[in-house]
Amino acid sequence: MKRDLRSLSEDDCFAIVKAMNEKPFRGKQLFEWIHRKRVCDIDRMTNLPLEMREKLKEEYILDPLRHQYKQVSDDRNAEKYLFSLQDGECIECVWMRYKAGDSLCVSSQVGCRMGCSFCASTIDGLTRNLTPGEIISQVYDVEAEHYGESGGHISHIIVMGMGEPFDNYDNLLSFIRIITSEKGRNLSARGISVSTCGLEYGIRKLADERLPITLALSLHAPDDELRRKIMPITASHPLSEVLDACREYFSKTGRRITWEYSMIQGVNDHASHAEKLAALALKMRDSGCPVHINLIPLNPVKERIYGRSGEKTIVIFKKILEKYGINVTIRREMGSGIDAACGQLRKKMIG
Ligand code: SAH
Repeated sequence: MKRDLRSLSEDDCFAIVKAMNEKPFRGKQLFEWIHRKRVCDIDRMTNLPLEMREKLKEEYILDPLRHQYKQVSDDRNAEKYLFSLQDGECIECVWMRYKAGDSLCVSSQVGCRMGCSFCASTIDGLTRNLTPGEIISQVYDVEAEHYGESGGHISHIIVMGMGEPFDNYDNLLSFIRIITSEKGRNLSARGISVSTCGLEYGIRKLADERLPITLALSLHAPDDELRRKIMPITASHPLSEVLDACREYFSKTGRRITWEYSMIQGVNDHASHAEKLAALALKMRDSGCPVHINLIPLNPVKERIYGRSGEKTIVIFKKILEKYGINVTIRREMGSGIDAACGQLRKKMIG
């Protein structure tokens, strides 16, 4: 498998042109071709010497993704893309149009090893990590396909597709550094959200970067006992530790944390769960870490036994949280008609 150029930081570009005995300014040019001008063919890097381009082509490819399939929702506000990778593996990402700007939900791994019992991504376990370039290419390729030369662009990136981003921490951070680089795509870090099932060492490491990135914690249960049943990762990462890491994240970045709570019928949607969840959120607030709760109606996955909570149940749940003054929203459904639940399209296409 050839390495992909889009995984290279500007420093990496300087290092490889040095190894090719080229002048340092070639490194700057190379980085700009990849991330600012965003050509999709090494031959189009026309101000680089022909010999250098030939050498690059021997060792690298530019775009590690191949567009395989696209589903568009009836209202055209959501599009799901399936891409294949150099080794034949598949990943998916979802484009969504919001009032605040267009968003892309990207994958960070092929498969996942976290084992959440309602999620399609984890059914076959983890195959491999994505490279920074494979994560970035989801953004670049969807932008090229969607906006062409029109100049439109994605303003929000949500690392909430397939995979656990903190299980691929180094590549996640390289991706963030490259996509926010002023000399490249120059995306605002404020437009990035990272969602985790609760690997506290990842939360703490990202907190130390002090970047204004939004952290979303997939909570899904108000206590360890219930959480362990649907999210096995809880056994080795108890809530007390995860929530401590969230407090640290808020104190170091000043970014309010989001708790995601997928509403699963008869499992975590009882009024008593809402009461417990409210108590937990208030405890966080009192210790100086406000949270926002996002209720997500479960997207039932064919291979899984769980169903979605009824609309009424979700509204009652929300009202209980609101009674305590907690900031809560119900996630607007965008992609269920297009298999947009994490890992669903890939599962359908490749079995
Ligand atoms: N591993 C990360 C990010 C990927 S999953 C994490 O756990 O946060 C993105 C979000 O979708 C998580 O909150 C996850 O728990 C949730 N999710 C997965 N399958 C779902 C389903 N079928 N319906 C609703 N939400 C789901």
